[in-house]
Amino acid sequence: MTDYDYDLFVIGAGSGGVRAARTAAATGARVAIAEDRYLGGTCVNVGCVPKKLYSYAAHFHEAFTESAGFGWQLPQPAEFDWATLRDNKIEEIKRLNGIYGRLLEGADVRLINGRARVIDAHNVEVVGETISAAKILVAVGGWPWTPDFPGKEHALNSNDVFDLETFPKRFLVLGGGYIAVEFASIFNGLGSDSHLVYRGELFLRGFDHEIREFTRNEMEKKGVNLHFETNIESVEKQSDDSLKVTLTNGETLEVDALLSATGRRPHLQGLGLDKLDIELNPDGTLKVNDRFETSIPSILALGDVTGAPELTPVALAEAMHMTRVHFADEKLPTMDYNNIATAVFCHPNIGTVGLSEEAARAEFGAIRVYTADFRPMKHTLSGSDERCLMKLIVDDANDRVVGAHMVGEDAGELIQGIAIAVRAKLTKADFDATVGIHPTGAEEFVTMRTPTRC
Ligand code: NDP
Repeated sequence: MTDYDYDLFVIGAGSGGVRAARTAAATGARVAIAEDRYLGGTCVNVGCVPKKLYSYAAHFHEAFTESAGFGWQLPQPAEFDWATLRDNKIEEIKRLNGIYGRLLEGADVRLINGRARVIDAHNVEVVGETISAAKILVAVGGWPWTPDFPGKEHALNSNDVFDLETFPKRFLVLGGGYIAVEFASIFNGLGSDSHLVYRGELFLRGFDHEIREFTRNEMEKKGVNLHFETNIESVEKQSDDSLKVTLTNGETLEVDALLSATGRRPHLQGLGLDKLDIELNPDGTLKVNDRFETSIPSILALGDVTGAPELTPVALAEAMHMTRVHFADEKLPTMDYNNIATAVFCHPNIGTVGLSEEAARAEFGAIRVYTADFRPMKHTLSGSDERCLMKLIVDDANDRVVGAHMVGEDAGELIQGIAIAVRAKLTKADFDATVGIHPTGAEEFVTMRTPTRC
């Protein structure tokens, strides 16, 4: 027990903040949490959860068409009602917000609705109350950022795009990261004429090159219009409310909605940290040490606001690590950020863990690359020309699988299991000794015998 009002005051009730508050409270710490927006943060409200629901919705479209080859006769074309999807999603998110509230209540964490401002190393001010805490945790996440161009006020960001009043028949997304490829796929699947504009020669920079090329080809086959090596020059709203988008390559596109998916920035405005001279990373995120302490040790930070990989499971893992170090007094090694598996829910999905072929070659020199590029069994009758790519990267010196990548249906589901093997440093011989499950696409991961290249 300390003289402070609380042992931990958390700012931000997103994935990381809520997990930190609950786990710290479970150790007996007195915890309060402040949130000025919605419980569950980006992931629950305007990120992972609604995105995945919309991705499911978009997949139905091709499933209806593909079902004909299996004998189903449905009225064609099937009709999609945006308002039903949007409003059902809103209800589901309200349910999840309620669950988060009850979790905090059940953990005996005091929830304060308001944006907290840090006054000094141990005091915060929120809705007119000054509260002291032994430790303050900043877990406020990030906020979408849009570059400057004339007409940028007409661009939506990922906070707005889920709740559009009307369905955009023509949709354009700017960017080449996770959100851009996911939303280009989602709106294409839902029936929009969908465009993606990316400044580089190929989207998903940092991912395995072959995976990026394969994804480009599959997305093009599904009808997404990809515009690479160009950017938005300007946007003009027209009298019928449509948007005339002029690209730097001179092309013009007319669309009903424009989404900027050009990255996120730390959401530090109004928090008062600038007045405390807290040290920042070059990208403006909060600098923390391996105990999640900022340059003022009683002020902790984790999740997107620190520049860690912007992924919910990373924030959750950090929150649990932080609690064990600060509230259970455990001596833990630095959190391991290697081999974090991730999925991109473009259509088809990407699942990936470990090193890309390019990164592995740079790190180890001698590698073996195994690939399987095939037409999934389902599509022998569905009529779809969708293909699947699976890929293993092996360090030739010790036979360890150092990277596994997939583009195909449910790639995220499948890579999660493979991630355990990669993290456990299993060898290609271990993969080969694993008996496959037949008939699945996944069995390819244990039946690739001949290297595609070394
Ligand atoms: P990303 O950082 O993934 O991608 C941003 C994209 O915008 C890049 O392609 C970048 O290009 C481009 N860009 C940046 N600045 C400009 C500019 N001035 N003009 C034109 N293009 C620009 O951000 P997202 O917004 O897609 O997503 C944010 C984060 O959220 C992701 O990084 C990811 O960690 C997380 N997320 C995770 C998901 C998942 O797990 N499935 C889903 C959605 C989001 P360049 O590559 O050339 O720099």
